[in-house]
Amino acid sequence: MAAVHRADVVVIGSGGLGASTAFHLVARGARDVVVVDKHELASQTSPRAAGLMSHARTSDFMIELVQLATANLKRFAAETGEPLDWAQSGSLKVVRREEDVEVIDGDVLRGQRHGLDIERVSLDEAHRLNPLLQTEGITAVMRVGDDVYFDPAQVAIGYVRGAEARGATMLPHTTVRRVNIEDERVVGVETDQGTIRTRVVVDAAGAWTRQVAAASGITIPLVPTRHQLFVTEPIEGVHAELPIVRIADAAVYVRPCEGGLLWGGYEEAPRMFDMDALGGRFSIPDTPLDADVLWRMADDVRLQLPVLREAAVREHRGGLPTMTADGDHIVGPAPHAEGFFIAGGCNVAGLSVSPAIGDALAAWIVEGEPPLDLGRLSVTRFASGVDELERKAAWQYRHFYGVA
Ligand SMILES: Cc1cc2nc3c(=O)[nH]c(=O)nc-3n(C[C@H](O)[C@H](O)[C@H](O)COP(=O)(O)OP(=O)(O)OC[C@H]3O[C@@H](n4cnc5c(N)ncnc54)[C@H](O)[C@@H]3O)c2cc1C
Repeated sequence: MAAVHRADVVVIGSGGLGASTAFHLVARGARDVVVVDKHELASQTSPRAAGLMSHARTSDFMIELVQLATANLKRFAAETGEPLDWAQSGSLKVVRREEDVEVIDGDVLRGQRHGLDIERVSLDEAHRLNPLLQTEGITAVMRVGDDVYFDPAQVAIGYVRGAEARGATMLPHTTVRRVNIEDERVVGVETDQGTIRTRVVVDAAGAWTRQVAAASGITIPLVPTRHQLFVTEPIEGVHAELPIVRIADAAVYVRPCEGGLLWGGYEEAPRMFDMDALGGRFSIPDTPLDADVLWRMADDVRLQLPVLREAAVREHRGGLPTMTADGDHIVGPAPHAEGFFIAGGCNVAGLSVSPAIGDALAAWIVEGEPPLDLGRLSVTRFASGVDELERKAAWQYRHFYGVA
């Protein structure tokens, strides 16, 4: 490691959450910001995401957070000086079961309260908006005009480069062993290349967030959970403005991607991983994938999206987002460890909100308070422990679209 012995802030992890935090720290005037990553910069779960930004969320708080994130994402290139391809294609949320209609009706009411361009549309209108969607077996459809998709591979690396250009120091291939805490206060970060004295640390270690904190006696209840998707070869008629489609009860999504489609979904019993058991050399590209999980989903939605079974697959990728017991992220200070901040519990949606969470955490660190109340995301909500974490986390995973 280059001789970095002290820093004002050490960010552990250069994925979307860590890199955005580092960028916003330097943009807000923080000095001596150091980003430490045990792998190549921005190389783990973040570049493998689908790049979907969903506004129809089940809480007012999350809608506001996503609105902030979208505004930041649209300014990304101007602020960072780095490219970001995105499209406001809008989305269609499709309900097949009568009992789920009230879920999208709730989404519409909640969204309209927040000024979203959100409404129910007829099945014919849905098919007209995205001709790949067939109306057989559909009960109702909701359109969200605000929804965006973006190139996931550009986000973390763009924030990394933007932060570096403004003076942040990047230390790739440097593993954090533990955060040193004395008298309930952060005093430094121990890495395999030496110790960095600092009073502020951000644990944004993705699938390893829990391990990094546990080494210092801090408990962060989250579970690395496999999520995977396919990207298809180009398909005639597919263009970038086709709305994203989500089939609510099947928990399947699809969006345009370079003339083809990118599609994935949330299975009932997702595979969860213990990072300790995977060993120190494990890297997210080593995640064992299972194409059959995705083909079963294609079968489930064959009447609505027959194209998924027909299109040739050109890429199969996946990673380990982290699930929490209640589906909310874990962001903010850790108790009894002044200066220890957490940016984790992404719940398969961390990349899209990273522009807002990184900015909020940076404001919290630089100015002493966040620009919006992040209390709901505090790790202290799990202070008395979580029973059956894996079962609850699996339920949250499968029910991301809010249907029972
Ligand atoms: C297939 C798939 C589809 C997805 N789709 C979406 C989507 O549409 N929208 C969305 O918002 N999200 C999506 N996600 C989730 C999204 O990818 C994550 O929420 C996000 O990337 C998490 O970012 P991160 O910074 O926490 O993790 P990462 O990108 O994994 O970064 C964590 C970093 O920490 C480093 N690190 C770990 N331990 C240490 C240590 N001890 N010392 C130093 N460095 C360390 C790692 O090397 C890594 O670089 C998807 C995920 C997958 C897998």
